[in-house]
Amino acid sequence: MFDSLKDRFEKVFTSLRGKGKLTEEDVKLALREVRLALLEADVNYKVVKDFVERVRQRATGQEVLSSITPAQQVYAIVFEELLDLMGREVKPLSISPKPPTVYMMVGLQGSGKTTTAAKIALKMKRSHRPMLVACDLRRPAAVEQLRVLASTVGVPFVGPEEGETDPIRVARRALERCSETLVDLVIVDTAGRFQIDQELMQEVQDLKGAVNPHEVLLVVDSMTGQEAVSVASAFNDRLGLTGVVLTKLDGDARGGAALAIRAVTGTPVRLAGLGEKVDDLEVFDPNKMAQRILG
Ligand code: GDP
Repeated sequence: MFDSLKDRFEKVFTSLRGKGKLTEEDVKLALREVRLALLEADVNYKVVKDFVERVRQRATGQEVLSSITPAQQVYAIVFEELLDLMGREVKPLSISPKPPTVYMMVGLQGSGKTTTAAKIALKMKRSHRPMLVACDLRRPAAVEQLRVLASTVGVPFVGPEEGETDPIRVARRALERCSETLVDLVIVDTAGRFQIDQELMQEVQDLKGAVNPHEVLLVVDSMTGQEAVSVASAFNDRLGLTGVVLTKLDGDARGGAALAIRAVTGTPVRLAGLGEKVDDLEVFDPNKMAQRILG
């Protein structure tokens, strides 16, 4: 994860540390490298521009340049700004004061939505009684996939009945079953497509209206970089997301999505998918991410 970004940053700071005292020009050159590193990591252009400008303003003051450890101070400033970008705080999923809590999973096909629904069920099973609900009725394989995952994780499952095509009916039936099955957390998987289209958005929006979710969680593939950020913007505009789950951070994701999603959409990244197995899910921790990037 973020290997190339990490290498680039390491070079910048090794070179700064080698200089001892820094001039404004040294910082300027280093920031040019930081800018290129971020752009290469597929971070949104405007986010990079603002980031570099903020670091420049804080790092070129006399206080930093005349200090005895200027390189360390520049490092600390970049670290702080990375934290600001990603949102500083860990934001775990929240629970509604009025059970059942409903989480709605949304996202493009292939992003890892169905897998993540099961991962969340497994995580929440420690403290709750979750149920998985298949409302992606456009792809029969998705229903089967979730049914299998529910049994792997060991939680109840509700899916469409023979010939049923209306996801809202499935979701309502699931909600009605909560009290008899003592379920207090309903995780609804929804339809995805390879691209955002009007029909998909309408379906998901109608479903949202019917189930009144406590969390609307967008699942995005971190390997897609800036594309992930535009997907997040589009879903957020239409649905009002409460959080993002970044998947496939175990691969060679470059960082674009992790660094820019919150800055662009104002929506926090809550969870990180780190593999294909059902327990490969962690709370997204900006501090850990910044440490990973800066080494
Ligand atoms: P959906 O179409 O959005 O429901 O996506 P799926 O849940 O079917 O996932 C698509 C593929 O991505 C599957 O092969 C998953 O095993 C894989 N996948 C999901 N999350 C992760 C992750 O965090 N890391 C890795 N390496 N693969 C993942």
